[in-house]
Amino acid sequence: MARLYTCDLHNHTCMSPCAQLDMHPRALVQAFLARGLDIVAITDHNASENIAHIMQAAQGSPLVVIPGMEVTTREEAHVLGLFQSLEAVAQFQEIVYSRLPGENDEKRFGCQPIVNELEEVEAFNTHLLFSATDMALDEVTAGIHRLDGIAIASHIDRSFFSVVSQLGFVPESARFDGLEISAALGIAGGRRRFPELAQYSFITSSDAHCLNDVGRSCTGLQLESPCFEEIKLALGHRAGRYVAESLP
Ligand SMILES: [Zn+2]
Ligand SMILES: [Zn+2]
Repeated sequence: MARLYTCDLHNHTCMSPCAQLDMHPRALVQAFLARGLDIVAITDHNASENIAHIMQAAQGSPLVVIPGMEVTTREEAHVLGLFQSLEAVAQFQEIVYSRLPGENDEKRFGCQPIVNELEEVEAFNTHLLFSATDMALDEVTAGIHRLDGIAIASHIDRSFFSVVSQLGFVPESARFDGLEISAALGIAGGRRRFPELAQYSFITSSDAHCLNDVGRSCTGLQLESPCFEEIKLALGHRAGRYVAESLP
């Protein structure tokens, strides 16, 4: 049934070095449901191992979990990649790990636990997730698109780690499917600040790094059903699907 779905397409888990350790799959799913979210994307920095466990934790609930990743490009810009399946995000993960130098130093950056839906630590991610890949921006978005994924520029209004802060503009060659405005500014504020980007779909997300921030900012998408292909249509404002720039 066509309706407005409440979506938060940018969330970290305990595996992201800068996120709180209590963001394990079960707690996250509880928080997503408590905030009334219909669709969430899981987007750890350069990593994806906790997504399957979050999908497990969400089983039997109405929550739809989209696999994703927040990649750091060579220019130190953050880009969200959203994918149709765990297989697609795993393929993208392989490319990212082959282009991500370094090993994590737990004393400096903290541990990066892979936690299952039963709250058991299965392993620790040993990659230096905090660092940048050596992939250029266009290479990252082309890689996402090659796997039929959705590429969104993260928090373009932020003065660090954003496409705009690093390059000064949003290059057309990156062919972004949408641009994210941070929770602090919101979509209406983003439209006022970036009139030159009027042709792009804007979303806003929580970019949650702690449980309290889950759902603090979300986007309404008008969809026929809560799934990846519908999100793609909505970002392209196609076939009657669209991004509602304010939620009722
Ligand atoms: Zn970011
Ligand atoms: Zn983030």
